[in-house]
Amino acid sequence: MKRILNYIDGELVPPVGGAFLPNVEPATGTPYSEVPDSDGRDVELATSAAEAAFPSWSRTSAAERSRLLLRVADLIEAKREALARAESVDTGKPIRVARSLDIPRSAVNFRFFATAILHFHSESHATDHKAINYTLRRARGIAGLISPWNLPLYLLSWKIAPALAAGNTAVAKPSEITPMTAFLLSEICREAGLPRGVLNIVHGTGPKVGSAITAHPKISTISFTGGTRTGAEIAITCAPMFKKVALELGGKNPSIIFADAPLDEVVPTSVHASFDNQGQLCLSGSRIFVERSAFHPFVERFVKATRALKLGDPLEEETDHGALVSRAQIDKVATYLDQARSDGGRILCGGRTPQGLPERCREGFFVEPTIITGLPVDSRVNQEEIFGPVVTVTPFDTEDEVVTFANSTPYGLTGSLWTHNLPRAHRMAEKIHSGTLWINCWMLRDLRVPFGGMKNSGVGREGGVEALRFFTEPRNICVQFPIDQPAGGSK
Ligand code: NDP
Repeated sequence: MKRILNYIDGELVPPVGGAFLPNVEPATGTPYSEVPDSDGRDVELATSAAEAAFPSWSRTSAAERSRLLLRVADLIEAKREALARAESVDTGKPIRVARSLDIPRSAVNFRFFATAILHFHSESHATDHKAINYTLRRARGIAGLISPWNLPLYLLSWKIAPALAAGNTAVAKPSEITPMTAFLLSEICREAGLPRGVLNIVHGTGPKVGSAITAHPKISTISFTGGTRTGAEIAITCAPMFKKVALELGGKNPSIIFADAPLDEVVPTSVHASFDNQGQLCLSGSRIFVERSAFHPFVERFVKATRALKLGDPLEEETDHGALVSRAQIDKVATYLDQARSDGGRILCGGRTPQGLPERCREGFFVEPTIITGLPVDSRVNQEEIFGPVVTVTPFDTEDEVVTFANSTPYGLTGSLWTHNLPRAHRMAEKIHSGTLWINCWMLRDLRVPFGGMKNSGVGREGGVEALRFFTEPRNICVQFPIDQPAGGSK
């Protein structure tokens, strides 16, 4: 069975304690590789390597850092098919999705920040006729990068690329449930010639490896993407150590559909927003609100389009809907479906284990895409993040009412709004509490824009210049002009 190894100080090494965990293929429910069950000792080695590499890497020219990161991007593209297959096997997502989204986007992340750093600049301010204040931005040191299992390489590379581009070194931890492409990335970094210790990847569980990273006194910057509860734990650890922390957390995102929106566009996009990646996207639109006059036509067409999704083996080309990531995730979805039934919800389609799966997938973690109506807006299913292929549909009557519905959860990550009434769109954009609002579209991403959540969906922003700012320390240098004035100046 293939053994994944840690990537520390440029070498692929087993964990100090010698223990490994089984890595399960979600489509079959059986282990197919082993992942290091690392602990604080491995994090210590990785941190020492990152510390030793920092002086040289942070002084390496931006052009040279850019060249190396572009080489990583080239290699990801060259190995796209192998990486897509690995991502599909490891997560249960359709290979078509891994091939068209996860892997190309991972290469683009490296390419984007490798070139962004060449154009990154800092401010200067002429203070009257007395002085120039300039902002000196330098890499902060060692960054701890922790990512979840739903978009493994995509989200890890979204952190690694800006951290390294800005001149930091890093200790990264992918989810232990989906470690394979991070391991393949470590092989790519070796092949690209990334200097030893610049990037270190330690595999293992959150409680052992993740918490050792967040608690390590020499890791001064933490970028975390994952669940809100884990984010809160990390914040508690980091606050007394005054670490710089970015938390990209959960979501319970509203999709708001007014009757003037064309259903021919809204329905297919709503199917993607609800069920892409088996609903395991922080951006998923898991609560749909439809203006009452369009409610029945929308629901009818939405159910029909959802039933047309092809469920099956993630490795088959035509599969639209693959497996959930783990047994725990299937159990979590089942619990929420029971809750929906007991709260009076009507399951219009889905909610069961799919029939007719190929023999090899019989023990896999599959659940049909599920549409529920008739649930109160404040019910648990409408308030809590399920992170699975479950969506609710609720009618609304007025703008004010749907704004209240949309803002009723503790989350505020993304939302989408469908209307051709432009003044209404702008009016509502002001009122909806979400870090991103898509109008007449969903998941239309531009890597330059700030991405992150409000409320319990997180703190800080990733993306473009925001990420480069996060991974650098701004310092103010004030230079007084050598003119005939008393020294000191005024505050
Ligand atoms: P978790 O919070 O369980 O885990 C995320 C990562 O944190 C994993 O690598 C995990 O390790 C690690 N971890 C767990 N406990 C600790 C700890 N105490 N200290 C440090 N690290 C720890 O999230 P999931 O992996 O279940 O991912 C799903 C969640 O991620 C959803 O809530 C989703 O909304 C959110 N998400 C947010 C996004 C955003 O951009 N806002 C994007 C994508 C997902 P391990 O699992 O190996 O034990």
